Amino acid sequence: MGSIIKLETYAKENNVPIIRKDGLEFIIDYIKKYNIKNILEIGTAIGYSAINMAQTNEDIKVTTIERNENMYAIARKNIRKFGLEKRITLILNDALNVNVTGKYDLIFIDAAKAQYIKFFEKFKNNLTQNGVIITDNLNFHGLTKHPEEIQSKNLRALVKKINNYKEFLQTNQEFETKFHQIGDGISVSKRKMD
Ligand code: SAH
Ligand code: MG
Repeated sequence: MGSIIKLETYAKENNVPIIRKDGLEFIIDYIKKYNIKNILEIGTAIGYSAINMAQTNEDIKVTTIERNENMYAIARKNIRKFGLEKRITLILNDALNVNVTGKYDLIFIDAAKAQYIKFFEKFKNNLTQNGVIITDNLNFHGLTKHPEEIQSKNLRALVKKINNYKEFLQTNQEFETKFHQIGDGISVSKRKMD
């Protein structure tokens, strides 16, 4: 039997950056409210968010992509423990190399922060008409407000990329985005109607 608490403990002990509890609750409420059935996730890690989303409702299907073999193996085991292997499809590959043909009501972007714009541009084509793209970690642990104070060059570059992504969303002609100060910063992007 799978245990959510065990996944959380594992993540904590092994520094796996799983979604924060309030962020997860926000997404689960969204899934319920909009009767989401098909979900695509970019960035599986140990399967924590995929398992939680799949458990929201028995007829939800999740496809989730992970490029790290070790994470993939752990996620596979976890998904099996929860008996969700029929409803969660796990793909081992770099998301930017995967050819996804399905249509999804919800696409959850939660992988390499430097590639957020690329993920968005690639996978927006896999949205259903009223589909939504939710992105995690837009506050990047509170670092995005004062990037100039960050010592590490790499980290500063990464934070800059996240801020670029936010600007990309804010100025997007095709999508309307709402930003929520929940969890580590979550955005919800929907195709503009007209
Ligand atoms: N969604 C998970 C956490 C994901 S952590 C949860 O909340 O439970 C981010 C994961 O994305 C890492 O495991 C990392 O290996 C993976 N990742 C990063 N870039 C990726 C890419 N380009 N393609 C696929 N997976 C990627
Ligand atoms: Mg995250």
